[in-house]
Amino acid sequence: MTWRDATETLLKPLITSERVGLITDMDGTLAPIVPNPDDAYPTERSKKLLAQLSEHLTLVAAVSGRAVADLHERVNLPGLVYSGNHGLERWENDKVVVAPMVLEYENALQKAKAAVTDIAPEGVMIEDKGATLSVHYRNAAIPAEINLLFEPKLRDIADKHNLRLFSGRKVFELRPPLDIDKGTVFKQLIEENNLDAAIYIGDDTTDADALKMARQLRDDKQCHAVGMGVQSDDTPSVVLISADCLADGVEGVEDFLEWFLKSVMASVI
Ligand SMILES: [Mg+2]
Repeated sequence: MTWRDATETLLKPLITSERVGLITDMDGTLAPIVPNPDDAYPTERSKKLLAQLSEHLTLVAAVSGRAVADLHERVNLPGLVYSGNHGLERWENDKVVVAPMVLEYENALQKAKAAVTDIAPEGVMIEDKGATLSVHYRNAAIPAEINLLFEPKLRDIADKHNLRLFSGRKVFELRPPLDIDKGTVFKQLIEENNLDAAIYIGDDTTDADALKMARQLRDDKQCHAVGMGVQSDDTPSVVLISADCLADGVEGVEDFLEWFLKSVMASVI
């Protein structure tokens, strides 16, 4: 169902509860997907709405697979909590704070980076994000060889260096084998801020962990958590299956944020 069908039911506690949080992904959620990930920025409309929402909600947080310094620079709003590298790092007091366990994998990540660089097909871009490694293949010269030839080799490299391999929208990621993901970050933010209700918005495979977590927390009556998926032409099916409701693209997310802001403001008058 679309979020508009849920304003009087599932989404209602977001307006009526006392301590409410909004936790959102950036790429494909606030920022349109573009050929070069370096050119992706949240839309002006979404930034304006997030800034206003942060004045009315207990928590507004941006969670991303990007390095947290990169995420912070792109969203660039005060008063938000920033969690990058899928929760492996936070932006605190103007600097990067990395989860202590990550440091043990620095060496492995650098070795894996050198190995991936050696075998990367034409058009594939390797991004060193410190705590993780991203391998972007949106611009690969021969797309057919990515899954058939390149992915098995990546898997071997990940295994050899005791890292985990993940795949997203035209991207592979090598990460330390730690049980930290967008789902555990979502839960942690809810607990830290003692939230009565919270919504998570995301578009990709890694966001599905948080969408599933929303259902679990709601079932456990721990928090009225809601998972919103962002729908586009290439939305992974796990997102569609795990989401409680859907928004239609980045523009649909903006429309939701506008409704959220207006409703929250109307409820306090
Ligand atoms: Mg995304």
